Amino acid sequence: MSFEDQESERLSSIDRYGHKKNIIPAPVRGRFHRQRTWVQGVLIIFFLMLPWIQIRGEQAFLIDLVHGQFAIFGLRFFAHDTPMVFFVLSTAAFGLLWATAVWGRVWCGWACPQTVFVDGVFRRIEKWTEGDYIRRRRIAQGEPRSLTDWLRTGLKWFLFFIVSSVLAHSAIALFSGSKALLSMMGHSPSDNWFYFVLVSSITGVLLFDFGWFREQFCVIMCPYGRFQSVLMDSTSLAVIYDEKRGEPRKGTPAAKEKGAGDCVACNRCVQVCPTGIDIRQGVQMECIACTGCIDACDEIMEKVNKPKGLIRYGNVDGTSWKIKKPRALVYLGLLLATVTGLSWSVASRQEIHWNLLRGQGPVFREIKNPDGSLSYSNHLRVHLQNQTRQAIHRRIQAFAAGQPLDITSAENPFVASADEMKTVHLFVIFPSSLLGADGKVPIEVRLVDETNPQNFRSQNYQLVGPSHGP
Ligand code: SF4
Ligand code: SF4
Repeated sequence: MSFEDQESERLSSIDRYGHKKNIIPAPVRGRFHRQRTWVQGVLIIFFLMLPWIQIRGEQAFLIDLVHGQFAIFGLRFFAHDTPMVFFVLSTAAFGLLWATAVWGRVWCGWACPQTVFVDGVFRRIEKWTEGDYIRRRRIAQGEPRSLTDWLRTGLKWFLFFIVSSVLAHSAIALFSGSKALLSMMGHSPSDNWFYFVLVSSITGVLLFDFGWFREQFCVIMCPYGRFQSVLMDSTSLAVIYDEKRGEPRKGTPAAKEKGAGDCVACNRCVQVCPTGIDIRQGVQMECIACTGCIDACDEIMEKVNKPKGLIRYGNVDGTSWKIKKPRALVYLGLLLATVTGLSWSVASRQEIHWNLLRGQGPVFREIKNPDGSLSYSNHLRVHLQNQTRQAIHRRIQAFAAGQPLDITSAENPFVASADEMKTVHLFVIFPSSLLGADGKVPIEVRLVDETNPQNFRSQNYQLVGPSHGP
């Protein structure tokens, strides 16, 4: 392979020795830039506010791994709600697959935290502290720095650190709870080593990634970026250069021979690209669909009195962008199935979980009644988890063939406070006349609301006594 070939095969952000090239994109203006700025602003504010939004006095979004609880906008899930977590994750995954098959890397360009924070915050700080891109490029190419330049760079990294630290604290508050985080921040790190190390590590990672590594992450490390080529096809939406219209470029021998196309070879699309690629060479893996080159080229087209859209959203093979295609319909079908599953499991979930378990010890006990007849008792355990936000008052009742049975318990009725997991021990007593030949008595056990006895839930159970069968 010739040296030139090797150059064209290499990632634009890596030099011939494998070192990271410092790409300093030129600023861009235009309609997509304006729209993305709005979207980024909304997403950043949403992320920063998320840990502080309260619904009914509780954090609206909380992933409490320590206690196995999750809160998503007023709905609370517990460890045993695993099917719901499955549906949530599947919905997110199939949603992303469907969006990618139809709209390509729209997530990367518009909503990925990597792009949102690098573009929306870190590059702005860089420009504000270190000056315009021309000055920064000169310094990156080895021009000596003045003391002021060093001070500006120091200020930049100080602000980067502050922002990274704020983002790390916001992220951790989604797991620890914002109130708990505030309380921890008021104490010495030695009181909360785990969280202190965690927040410090995340701050360091964000500082490294958003401050220095940047689009290298998209190209080298992001698994979603790696999957793009299999998720997209030639009819997916992408940022494309209209080769038919643009070529031959102005100033080339072909242009002199056949007449120039619309591309004036100003290189502005390359200058603004944060991954350092030339979109005129076709759709490339490094393109994060940030739309910078669209705005840049539209600005040039306006200046040279040519129609906008030489670089635009389009599809790779120039036929037509398709929403209806087999792959997208399959993803959409799977997405609808998981959304249906999620809706069903949210609608049918109970906030009070209860199970009937057999008690330990003998399976049954014989009781001699004063009139000489026999009764039996079974030890049952009612395991209840109160996931509501208030105390509940409940009573256990048992019925055989519609007739109430006697229950002996130290805790019936009982109270379970908010979030309490409780086990109530019961001895259900039944006359021998109810016993079937197989030694079993089918019963209905009711969990009755003491404040509204018409409100109850029931489960079937089988009491056991001596068998008289063959
Ligand atoms: S090629 Fe255009 S859309 Fe793709 S990353 Fe570069 S500037 Fe953004
Ligand atoms: S910005 Fe447009 S006109 Fe300028 S080089 Fe890129 S494609 Fe050609």
